[in-house]
Amino acid sequence: MKLDVLVVGAGFAGCVVAERLASSGKSVLVIDRREHIAGNAFDKQDAAGVLVHQYGPHIFHTNAPHIVEYLSRFTDWRPYEHRVLSSTDGKLYPMPINRTTINSLYGLSLDEAGIAAFLKSVREKRDRIENSEDLVLSSIGRDLCDRFFRNYTRKQWGLELSQLSATVAGRIPVRTNDDDRYFTDTFQKMPAEGYTSMFQNMLNHPNITLELGTSFQQVASRMQAAEIYYSGQIDEFYNFRFGLLPYRSLRFEHEHLPGTKYFQQVGTVNYPNDHDFTRITEFKHLTGQKHAGTSIVREYPQSQGDPYYPIPTPENQARYEQYKQLAAADKHVHFIGRLAEYRYYNMDQVVAAALNLMKNSLR
Ligand code: FAD
Repeated sequence: MKLDVLVVGAGFAGCVVAERLASSGKSVLVIDRREHIAGNAFDKQDAAGVLVHQYGPHIFHTNAPHIVEYLSRFTDWRPYEHRVLSSTDGKLYPMPINRTTINSLYGLSLDEAGIAAFLKSVREKRDRIENSEDLVLSSIGRDLCDRFFRNYTRKQWGLELSQLSATVAGRIPVRTNDDDRYFTDTFQKMPAEGYTSMFQNMLNHPNITLELGTSFQQVASRMQAAEIYYSGQIDEFYNFRFGLLPYRSLRFEHEHLPGTKYFQQVGTVNYPNDHDFTRITEFKHLTGQKHAGTSIVREYPQSQGDPYYPIPTPENQARYEQYKQLAAADKHVHFIGRLAEYRYYNMDQVVAAALNLMKNSLR
């Protein structure tokens, strides 16, 4: 079979590339080894009719107007600001840590300047930040670290804070004010009809053909594409020549609770110290759907299973660099997205990277 372009993976990376290339007149085949589009952002109605995110909660947020402009061609939006509470010692506290967290945890009534001074007093001095433990201890001190981060990290990554690169904890802000929003981006909205519907609109182009339940490895020999855009695992593409790039996986336990209007106060509650799961998300908060019952998901981190989070250690990064060098020589294959670039990407960052790549290739 001859085509202009083969796109491997129907997630954000693959679908943005496919849409752009198809709109420029190229014939594009999109394949995905899963039986659905939308990658990890896939959502669907569960048996009770509640819209749920199959692979855990996906909240869209960005500061980039050009990404909003692009995606708005395929979806309307509903406003949603995500809020997270963390359950520790049987009580719920805002996460990220803010003024309310510290005042209610320690029975204080500090103002913003008081919180800044409190944090200064509990911080542990580090001359060099070499890992996530250094970063957290030098930012919020040992007690807050132990209550909210240490065990969560053990569960989430199967690693100690000290074994993880500082970039992991670097994503978690600490606030001296009462802002309890999880994100502070200028644009925080959810696709009005859900992610899958948005992806359907992206792929709805006469130049795009879609084959689901099809892996690249199955079709590589029969497809002759001038160019390949590959958003699968880069180590798999090269038959694991330099060894496996490790990922942290998750098991998602979905549950519908008939007759329960709301299960919890906010979209997500973290459980750093109790249970085997890390967090519970209740989808009706995210989607605004009205329903007599509610649907939740518990996330259980595990070492085996679908690849979700690249594990950011120096060894893994060095192995990835070896694959990247091979990839640089493969001129007709473009590696894009979280699996191909072995990095944690938010959705807006993947869209930005794909649009950027397209801007350069379609010049
Ligand atoms: P994916 O969405 O994973 O798509 C890749 C696709 O390629 C998959 O469908 C896969 O089946 C397919 N594929 C792989 N290999 C092959 C092959 N060999 N042949 C055929 N098909 C193949 N981001 C946010 O911005 N906000 C959030 O709230 C958020 N929450 C998240 C929660 C969880 C639990 C996880 C794991 C991620 C979250 N993310 C979030 C990140 C978000 O999922 C990613 O940014 C996004 O999915 C990346 O898109 P992608 O196209 O690179 O990868």
